[in-house]
Amino acid sequence: MVGNNERNPGFNTLAIHAGAQPDPTTGARATPIYQTTSFVFDDVDHAASLFGLQAFGNIYTRIGNPTNAVLEERVAALEGGTAGLAIASGHAAQFIVMHNLMTPGDEFVASKKLYGGSINQFNHAYKNFGWNVVWADPDDLSSFERAVTPKTKCIFIESIANPGGVITDIEGVSKIAKKAGVPLIVDNTLATPYLCKPIDFGADIVVHSLTKFLGGHGNSIGGMIVDGGTFNWSREGRYPMLSEPRPEYQGIVLHETFGNFAFAIACRVLGLRDLGPALSPFNAFLILTGIETLSLRMQKHCDNALKVAEWLAKRPEIAWVSYPGLPGDKYHNLVKKYCPKGAGAVFTFGLKDGYDAGVKLVSNVKLFSHLANIGDTRSLIIHPASTTHRQLSDAQKVQAGAGPDVIRVSIGLEEVDDIIQDLEEGLAG
Ligand SMILES: *Cc1c(COP(=O)(O)O)cnc(C)c1O
Repeated sequence: MVGNNERNPGFNTLAIHAGAQPDPTTGARATPIYQTTSFVFDDVDHAASLFGLQAFGNIYTRIGNPTNAVLEERVAALEGGTAGLAIASGHAAQFIVMHNLMTPGDEFVASKKLYGGSINQFNHAYKNFGWNVVWADPDDLSSFERAVTPKTKCIFIESIANPGGVITDIEGVSKIAKKAGVPLIVDNTLATPYLCKPIDFGADIVVHSLTKFLGGHGNSIGGMIVDGGTFNWSREGRYPMLSEPRPEYQGIVLHETFGNFAFAIACRVLGLRDLGPALSPFNAFLILTGIETLSLRMQKHCDNALKVAEWLAKRPEIAWVSYPGLPGDKYHNLVKKYCPKGAGAVFTFGLKDGYDAGVKLVSNVKLFSHLANIGDTRSLIIHPASTTHRQLSDAQKVQAGAGPDVIRVSIGLEEVDDIIQDLEEGLAG
């Protein structure tokens, strides 16, 4: 990619080039949008080898697409994994991963500090498949150990956990997963590989909502699965999707055939093929464009967020600020280990005057957008108690980190002085 010497290309080079080359027929330098449903076979033998998994190539965009393939290779390179799989959304990525691992009656252990949508998915949607979540406390590693049973098939955590600025001890949980003989899945959405590379700390699979900082511009929903290539799927036969012959592919055993990227292949040829949440190549194009500037954006997001958190911490209206980048924060040491370049851009703070002050602030701000997303160039704000967590009782709200006083922000890339001024006027107004 950058000459013949032995040096591996650095992060920014990968963010711009990994997976891409000038289009072989037109010379187009940017990755084209291959807006097509299907691809012509060379001949009958070629078609047969594609369908039999004897050759790699394009068949139908539900299973794979050349624009998406560039995105897959790029995110896998940034995370240090062996292969990636682009999916329609972050939630679909989680679902396809679990579909490869779980059978009815199985269990998985998950950190209870997760994105609210994941808590819903695990508590409700998965129950219908007979996949049972057992919750553990990221502040108490022994709770993960206690939650493991012979039915456990994986452990699921977030690196920086949404929404409260919780940092999970990835290496600590990874040791527990290894002892239990199950893969560790890390949702790395809030950190992105610019801030943290979970595979370096023992994760086996990384999932992303590309919708957030990787795409980065608030314009496209997307998801990604990265295979770390680290897990032995054949040991003890606990993962039959990977370790047993597949009748629909002439008895191929995926782990035996595809080795250290078998998990990504299984997600594609069993998950995506049969369940169908394909990513639009147009979204892949927009997300690829976003990733080219990932390091510049993430660093600015973090720098702005730290300044805003420092300012909030000094304000008389504010009871507390939960941002791991602040010295003295409960997670400050963990964030220095796992995200040394910055503590991300999503955090919560509490208003002394509770619920009404929260409603007032989100109503008063002008630069901040009041909405349910994170990871946009724009600064975003939400008062969970009056919106996303409205249906819960007060006790449940507090338990979910969405008490009446809590505000969540995702700090954008505007001038930090303008962001602070907007909060100042919002608090006063
Ligand atoms: C948004 C988000 C998801 C879900 O992703 P979608 O792309 O909205 O499906 C999962 N995990 C985290 C941490 C998120 O922020």
